[in-house]
Amino acid sequence: MNIVIFGPPGAGKGTQSNFIVQKFNLYQLSTGELLRKEINNKTQLGKQISSIINTGNLVSDEIVGNLIEKFITNKEYKNRLIFDGYPRNLPQARYLDTLLKRNNQKIDIALKLSVSLETIKKRIFERKNLEKRADDNEKIAIKRYETYENNIEPVINFYKQSDLLQVVNGEASISEISDEISGLIEGIKG
Ligand code: AMP
Repeated sequence: MNIVIFGPPGAGKGTQSNFIVQKFNLYQLSTGELLRKEINNKTQLGKQISSIINTGNLVSDEIVGNLIEKFITNKEYKNRLIFDGYPRNLPQARYLDTLLKRNNQKIDIALKLSVSLETIKKRIFERKNLEKRADDNEKIAIKRYETYENNIEPVINFYKQSDLLQVVNGEASISEISDEISGLIEGIKG
């Protein structure tokens, strides 16, 4: 089983992906984390993308596409990937579909966490104190939310059309959200 989870930055994708990974023995592929790793390791790629990430914009489809391809073609992760933060726009959704097909895989469910901008601001402020993420000040938080909103509608429609979309109320408590997601995943497992 492969899962896509998306929602605005700060919606709890990371927390919920973690939970799903433990419960269903999947592997979490967070493009944001992979990119931050490149920055922390001061790689060539890291230097290229740090200013983009710190302004709340998206890095190029090609860069993130290359990152996810490595995982999709790796047998160790076959049919056990949870895509956290990918796809972020329609070309990425299409690319993911193509890559998976080419490797005899597919997405089984697309989980959308819905959360208001007010809640996001509150959570990002709390997380800033915990993780010290450089891109998490309020102005950037709003920019990241807007970037998400501006690009995600076609992705939502893409998964709706394939009958894979499930909308989860991301305003609920962490355990309530986990319970709801569990039920949805159990549902597709039959
Ligand atoms: P995240 O941790 O998922 O919120 O990602 C942090 C930042 O990494 C985003 O604000 C983007 O700049 C970049 N990023 C992560 N995933 C993607 C993606 N799929 N496409 C483009 N940029 C991404």
